[in-house]
Amino acid sequence: MNTNIDTGGIPDAAFLEKLANQYFKANPADELPGQGPIPATVPSSVSGLGVSPSVVQYGNTVDIKDTENDLPKHYSDGGGRIPVSVAGSGASPSVVQHGNNINIKNPQTGFPDQNLKNGDHNAAGAFTDSPANGSKEYFPFEGDKSFLTDLQTVLSSLMTSSSAPQFPELTSKGLDTQDFPAYYFLQDNPFAISGNIAQLPTDSISAVKPGFSTASVLPWGFDANLIKKDFPILQEVVNGKPIVWLDNAATTQKPRQVIERLSFFYEHENSNIHRAAHELAARATDAYEEARKKVQLFLNAASPNEIVFVRGTTEAINLVAKSWGEQYLQPGDEIIVTHLEHHANIVPWQQLAGKKGVKLRVIPVDDDGQVLLDEYARLLNPKTRLVSFTQVSNALGTVTPARKMIEMAHQAGAKVLLDGAQSVSHMRADVQALDADWFVFSGHKVFGPTGIGVLYGKEDLLNQTEPWQGGGNMIRDVTFEHTEFQKAPGRFEAGTGNIADAVGLGAAIDYVTRLGIENIQLYEHYLLQYATGLLNEVPGLKLIGTAKEKTSVLSFVLNGYSNDQVGQALNNEGIAVRTGHHCAQPILRRFGLESTVRPSLAFYNTCTDVDRLVSTLKHLKGKYR
Ligand code: PMP
Repeated sequence: MNTNIDTGGIPDAAFLEKLANQYFKANPADELPGQGPIPATVPSSVSGLGVSPSVVQYGNTVDIKDTENDLPKHYSDGGGRIPVSVAGSGASPSVVQHGNNINIKNPQTGFPDQNLKNGDHNAAGAFTDSPANGSKEYFPFEGDKSFLTDLQTVLSSLMTSSSAPQFPELTSKGLDTQDFPAYYFLQDNPFAISGNIAQLPTDSISAVKPGFSTASVLPWGFDANLIKKDFPILQEVVNGKPIVWLDNAATTQKPRQVIERLSFFYEHENSNIHRAAHELAARATDAYEEARKKVQLFLNAASPNEIVFVRGTTEAINLVAKSWGEQYLQPGDEIIVTHLEHHANIVPWQQLAGKKGVKLRVIPVDDDGQVLLDEYARLLNPKTRLVSFTQVSNALGTVTPARKMIEMAHQAGAKVLLDGAQSVSHMRADVQALDADWFVFSGHKVFGPTGIGVLYGKEDLLNQTEPWQGGGNMIRDVTFEHTEFQKAPGRFEAGTGNIADAVGLGAAIDYVTRLGIENIQLYEHYLLQYATGLLNEVPGLKLIGTAKEKTSVLSFVLNGYSNDQVGQALNNEGIAVRTGHHCAQPILRRFGLESTVRPSLAFYNTCTDVDRLVSTLKHLKGKYR
């Protein structure tokens, strides 16, 4: 067997090409197990597999030269290697090349980011490839070549595999992707880290997902450096530096699979939906309704009828306030929110309170930004009709004990709206396990397009609620005297909706599903710990929001600098963070602040990204104040 690996850090391309060809030959992607051939024009998420159109069009035998000749440049992996989304996995080609295990003690694994070698700031303050003082303090993985050994073993395992992998999950479940493991083709990955799982702290995992079994965590793992390559915008250069996107709480970047799915829609499917006999109307309707089904599976909703497409979280909350709230709330009723809420989960209730004589009450938080459950218990009373709260605070990163809080609300006879804007991309949101009455999120926070979001509502509740907007699509019958409404979800989707972006959201969900939300959760958990440790070492830096259960968000202030100055200094180094009040003024004022600097993580961020953030902050601190 050829195990020729370049010891300079780059695996031998010819060897990998041969390996990939052998794999794909054994496992053709133009035929799905038990499903027959994929039609030549079926795009990525139409097949339900996140298959990139390039794979369908060009088959999946990889030839470096042909790939370069046949495919537009952006289809190839920089050096013209394997097209993206190989074999319908939704995985980047580099994942196939490099394997995808993660060292849980060291989430970046052994692959240094090829965009950025070890570096430091020079005397002029610029980030350079060569450390001025030879220090490697903030680039811990440079020089770690242990991955070569790992890589050889992974490749050996693939080379010696006697038969093509089987896909019982896929065959038995049709084309549903929900239970389909990420990187199924690496089921035998010898670096599955399940052996280490028992030693991991499980408190935060089980707290966010009750009943979460750590035994199933990260059976395949992933490498963020490689995943990053699926996101074209993350290859941008800003101010001469490779971009570091740490503004994920504001919006997430989109993988190529989502971008391609959107253009495929406009190139091959675009039509208004539901009411036409022609071919394109059927294609567009199928694509849109399939996206609804994907959301249903993603949230584990009982039926696709419980999924209403809206513009985003803000619109979803307003919909509930202006339909259910106006219909059911009476003067004297009470609504409870937490001190953590985004303005989108305050203002609509305030407006409703003013209109209906309803009282808005607020659960306080402690100095770490954790909801005070005793206070919450005291606020609940027979007049409480609604508890509306966030699963993750966008300003502090606090993960609220959602299931417990929902249970307490239900015991008091109140309904619950859970704001999932900041949670869906970081943890499993199982609406049946949570038992929320409504769950809302925005597509753009979960690697999908802007302008599309979801209101989940229990089916009976949706059907017992009067629509808030009237018009086409939401009616069953109209006369001048009377209108009969559709059942959910149609009754809440008046007019022509954002069809293409709903389809794009479906592709984003495919992508996340393929990585595995539990894998994402665990990876980000360690990345957050890593970042928290390093930020705490920056002199004069104070983290705002230190809850035990946190995800993604690292709000801070830096002594001697305004938040805008910090944001600007980071931008000079190509690092994008948010500064400001994050549309959550009440919680920042609780900490005596009007704004913070807020880096926020996603699964494509690496320890190197964090290192660059910390290094820039230390430099700023050390140099000037
Ligand atoms: N709730 C939370 C917790 C948020 O973080 C956001 C967005 N920052 C929203 C609601 C509003 O989301 P959108 O602007 O996408 O409607």
